[in-house]
Amino acid sequence: MDFRLTDDEELFQKVVKEFCTKKLQPRAREIDDKEQIPEDLLQEMAKLRLLGITIPEKYGGPGGSLTMAALAAMEIAQGDISMATVVFYLLEAGWSIIMAKYGTEEAKSDVLPQVVEGKSFLGIATTEPGGGSDLANIKTVARREGDYFVINGEKAFISGIGESQRLGSGGHLTLVRTDAAAGYRGMSFIYVPVATPGISTLLFRDMGRMGISTGQLSYREARVPVRYLLGEENRGFYYAMEGFNAARVLVSAACIGAAEAALNIGIDYCKRREAFGSAIAKFEGVQFEIVEQYCQIEMAKLMVLKAAWMIDNYPNPDRYTLSETTKAVSVGKLYAPQIAFETIKRAMMWYGAASYSKENELEMALRGVMSYMVGAEGALNIIKVILGREILGREYMPYR
Ligand SMILES: Cc1cc2nc3c(=O)[nH]c(=O)nc-3n(C[C@H](O)[C@H](O)[C@H](O)COP(=O)(O)OP(=O)(O)OC[C@H]3O[C@@H](n4cnc5c(N)ncnc54)[C@H](O)[C@@H]3O)c2cc1C
Repeated sequence: MDFRLTDDEELFQKVVKEFCTKKLQPRAREIDDKEQIPEDLLQEMAKLRLLGITIPEKYGGPGGSLTMAALAAMEIAQGDISMATVVFYLLEAGWSIIMAKYGTEEAKSDVLPQVVEGKSFLGIATTEPGGGSDLANIKTVARREGDYFVINGEKAFISGIGESQRLGSGGHLTLVRTDAAAGYRGMSFIYVPVATPGISTLLFRDMGRMGISTGQLSYREARVPVRYLLGEENRGFYYAMEGFNAARVLVSAACIGAAEAALNIGIDYCKRREAFGSAIAKFEGVQFEIVEQYCQIEMAKLMVLKAAWMIDNYPNPDRYTLSETTKAVSVGKLYAPQIAFETIKRAMMWYGAASYSKENELEMALRGVMSYMVGAEGALNIIKVILGREILGREYMPYR
């Protein structure tokens, strides 16, 4: 067993950390206040080859591993603790893997180089107004007409709609029903540009991660070229599930980054703040909480990096199964948001009243991390359902 990062990974981590400390962190409040990631920061990220980090060299990307992507997610979340920048980054990094693996050559050439250059956004659209957990019940349909799929339906709580519009390019890997009678075996995954005629959009007023939008996409006879279908028709559910594993590793890494940042902010304050004639960091009631959060963050980080490593080395059926990978991913996704939430909450309590202010960056973090508590990239209960299925066996699933 070797826990060291490679020389390349260490160097990469150092470069990303420097960008995040010097360039991103000073502008986190601006991102939250102005509700967008400044264009110059996106361009700097593109220059550092952070955008579309997992995209293969053939399509202009650096071909980075998921481990590298996760290391960067931790740093970016520490830089912009509101979580907006890391969400922009991780959606592209995670879902590009699926596009690169299953997309047609034409689609990949259309989309991926633009993502690397920061000229286009790539996200995912599975959730519908009727629910996001029970994906086998989605209602959005696509019918084949010649060289086009014609889409009707609605997706909701979709990240990156506003960014696609602002960049003038962008779209989502969209889960649609292509065989009404076949349940989850009748779904396809199609790249759908936001600007497709027949799509109308509505942006929501979110409570956090203000620099990246969420909203609704309504499709009325929206026509998308068949070349944007990923892989085989009616196998989209499986591609989406595969993508969720990679995306959830990155979400967990982002939460670890936010937790580390919050812990450091909290520790710094506890050393400075005095009460009863001593630094509050000397009180065991405070110190033990710091220790508990530190331990939880360290344990979760190991799990998340293990899951990234498993996906990078998959398939390796002699050593571990897909089920084991899914378990590692899910343990990370179940705990990392909760650890981040608890660390931020405790750090705010160490601050006392001084945390309850727009002047304090912890409030941005709390609002941002909450997105991963309530549902983004899978509600916590659903992650438990997945773990239950993998631990006990499919026959013990409460339904289907
Ligand atoms: C900020 C933000 C950004 C998002 N971005 C995207 C995006 O880019 N693309 C996208 O497709 N989606 C996105 N989502 C949606 C996200 O994927 C969904 O929130 C998630 O899948 C849960 O769906 P839901 O919110 O409709 O909750 P529901 O599915 O309605 O569930 C409601 C509650 O019931 C619980 N529940 C449901 N079923 C069970 C069960 N079987 N057992 C126990 N408990 C259960 C859930 O855990 C949850 O607490 C985003 C969400 C947020 C908050």
